[in-house]
Amino acid sequence: MELKASPAALDPARLPGPVWVVAPHPDDEALGCGALLAALSNLGTEVWALLLTDGGFSHPDSREYPRERLAATRLDEWRTGLATLGVPPERTRALGFPDGALAGVPAPAVTQAVQRAFTASPPALVLLPWRRDPHPDHRAAWAPVCAATDAAVLGYSVWLTERGAEPDWPAAAEATALTFATGPYAACKAAAIAAHATQLGAITDDPGGFTLAPEMVARAVAGPELYFRPADPRPA
Ligand SMILES: [Zn+2]
Repeated sequence: MELKASPAALDPARLPGPVWVVAPHPDDEALGCGALLAALSNLGTEVWALLLTDGGFSHPDSREYPRERLAATRLDEWRTGLATLGVPPERTRALGFPDGALAGVPAPAVTQAVQRAFTASPPALVLLPWRRDPHPDHRAAWAPVCAATDAAVLGYSVWLTERGAEPDWPAAAEATALTFATGPYAACKAAAIAAHATQLGAITDDPGGFTLAPEMVARAVAGPELYFRPADPRPA
C-alpha cells in the first residue's frame, strides 16, 4: 500500500529533546530512523537509545553463535551503529527482554523497566515502531512503552512499508503521516545499518537464520523515512 495523500516533511529542528529512540531489536532504529537520528545529533539534540530485547533469536540453529554470544555481538553492533549516528554508548540502555517473545512479558514489567531507563534523561519525544508495524515484538512494544511516559510519541516504520497489510497502516483519523528525506544523512544511515553484520550474512551456519535483504537495505537508505504522529498514543 502507498500513502494516499503526500505527507508533510518532518522538520528535525522542531522536534523537542531529549529524544529517545526505542528499538525492539538491534537495527530497528538504524533501518527505521537512522537519517533522522543523524540529523538530530547534527542539530545538537540530545538523543538516547533504548533496546528492548536481547536480539538473540535471529539465528536459533547457529552453533557458532549460541544465543548468549549472538546477543552480546548484536549489542556491540547496536552500539557501534548508534555511535555513527551520534549516539554515544553512555546514552544507550538495553533491557534484555526475550527476542521474539516480548508479547509474553507482562506489560507492567516492560513499562517499569522502560520508566527506569528513562530516568537517565526524561524524554520530550519518544520514537517507537508504529503500533501495527508488522512484527510481533514491534506491536507488543507500543502500549507498555507509551504507558511509561507522558512524552510526545512518533511511530516509525521498519516493516510496514515492506510487508504491511492495509489494516496495519494508520486510519485517516488515527495519525498524521510525516516523511524525512535521508538526503545528506543517507551515507551515515548506511554505515549504521552496515554495523549489523550478523543480520547481513556474517553468520553462515544457520541457513534458516534471518538476513536483511540487500534490496530492503537499499530502500531504507534511499528513504524517505516514514513517521506517524498519533492523534492519541494512549487510547483507553
Ligand atoms: Zn525489529
